Amino acid sequence: MGASRKKNAQSKISRGAVIIAASLAEILKAISSFTIIPMFRMLCVTAHPDDEAAAFGGTIRLYHERGIETTVVCLTPGQAATHRGHAKDDHELAAIRRKEFAASCKILGIARGIVLDYADGQLYRTELYRVVEAITHHVREFKPHVMLTFGPEGAVTGHTDHSMASVFATLAFEWAARGNRFPDQLTGGLQPHITQKLYYATASFVLPDRPTIAPAPATAVIQIGKHLETKVAAFEAHTTQSPVFPMVREHILARARVEQFHLVAQSVPSQIKMETDLFEGVTED
Ligand SMILES: [Zn+2]
Repeated sequence: MGASRKKNAQSKISRGAVIIAASLAEILKAISSFTIIPMFRMLCVTAHPDDEAAAFGGTIRLYHERGIETTVVCLTPGQAATHRGHAKDDHELAAIRRKEFAASCKILGIARGIVLDYADGQLYRTELYRVVEAITHHVREFKPHVMLTFGPEGAVTGHTDHSMASVFATLAFEWAARGNRFPDQLTGGLQPHITQKLYYATASFVLPDRPTIAPAPATAVIQIGKHLETKVAAFEAHTTQSPVFPMVREHILARARVEQFHLVAQSVPSQIKMETDLFEGVTED
């Protein structure tokens, strides 16, 4: 091999090595930017079928894609809704809305969607201890790392059922960890469970012509980005609610490239700080 051919071959080899090194660097960069999250679980407590999409949908879908397993416990089947599709009575509407909820859960990647049978519009009349007991059972069974629910203001609609879901879920978050709360559940094989963080959904706007609300300030802002489209699709799986689609699109979804949350409680006390990830600081069991 002549000197110039040898030099040429060497430079081809080194060019190849540079290309391989560059690709390796790209791969390593891609790996490091893709956070591998262990199997964490998230429990979301809502009041009506469609809340899971309208209030939490982008965040649930985002975390589904990051490998988080989500359960939604919806306290009522929404049988008192103003918009009723072709349902003849409350019973039929409840059945239709359970199906719509299941379709929405599928779109959002919710692993388990549970609809309880409390009366829509009447949660403030329901016995607090019994509802908290039911949610606590789900907490101890599913063992979430993070819980989500509404704030006591009742979200942007100010719905009293949302407010009550907040109260029930907050007590279940606290009491699921204590051996002296609902001890009957513990003799049945469940264990007290410490959920590491509790968040309320919140917003930085109010809707016109709705009850006065005072929402909690946001401490976590989740960029849902492309998941907005999935959120809209999940919301519109609730076809009985189609008369409110234009209002929701105009006032809620138009501002919904982010979903905002307020950190209410955490198992390891610390000072508040702004977060962009609800699982920040969360550890494996
Ligand atoms: Zn609702």
